[in-house]
Amino acid sequence: MSLSGKVAVVTGASRGIGRSIALHLAEKGAKVVVNYSGSEAKAKEVVENIKSAGGEAIAVQASVASADDVTRLMKETMDQFGSIDILVNNAGITRDNLLMRMKDDEWEDVISTNLKGVYLTTKAVARQMMKQRKGRIINVSSIVGATGNPGQTNYVAAKAGVIGMTKSVAQELASRGITVNAVAPGFIETEMTEQLPEDIKSAMLAQIPLQHFGKPEDIAAAIEFLASDEAGYITGQTLHVNGGMYM
Ligand code: NAD
Repeated sequence: MSLSGKVAVVTGASRGIGRSIALHLAEKGAKVVVNYSGSEAKAKEVVENIKSAGGEAIAVQASVASADDVTRLMKETMDQFGSIDILVNNAGITRDNLLMRMKDDEWEDVISTNLKGVYLTTKAVARQMMKQRKGRIINVSSIVGATGNPGQTNYVAAKAGVIGMTKSVAQELASRGITVNAVAPGFIETEMTEQLPEDIKSAMLAQIPLQHFGKPEDIAAAIEFLASDEAGYITGQTLHVNGGMYM
């Protein structure tokens, strides 16, 4: 599988799963836009890693929850590389709380980043991909978007919404040669999950038939496949990468 010459935008790519996706796509030959909202230093480190391996990359600060930022992100991508072939909607946050304790801003923040963010970036790249008559959009959902999870009503609503959006947008853009798929990670070892209490981690591990947590590279490998020419007949699907959890 080669992504040589393709241009990929990866949101939230300065750390965790997004970082691994950016490195994987670059390794396959894609020119990568490393979007970040937080640490510029970490985003630049990802860019330097790609460049020192002979690849091409730039870092662009933008919040996916802001329409203006997203417009600027896509403009900077076009100015630098001249096309957008792959969009990976990876940026995401958690603000966990039980429903009856959830504050409105915890709901709003998660929906804005994890659901509206996917809508904004998808709409922005679709315009360009429709002109190109080809493209790959890959959304990072979550296993809980399919199963639900107590304490994560906001996050689950967003991630289930992403699965629904994936199916709708896939149907709308198929005639233009654009595929739209989702990857739903199970429990992946990143800074997002390392803050969870040990008893919750042990309970989760007990539910994983493959008996270990996933790594960011496991998700990146699935995304690399969905971004490839070889996956051209797959659209509207959600690929679960979770060690067999809740099989
Ligand atoms: P992470 O917290 O390490 O990384 C998330 C990234 O998104 C960070 O770099 C953060 O700065 C960025 N981000 C947050 N808000 C943003 C915004 N408004 N605009 C741009 N970037 C923003 O988490 P991770 O574990 O690497 O998660 C990556 C994705 O995978 C998320 O969508 C997450 O919901 C999903 N996911 C993770 C797991 C897991 O077990 N780690 C499981 C299922 C789904």
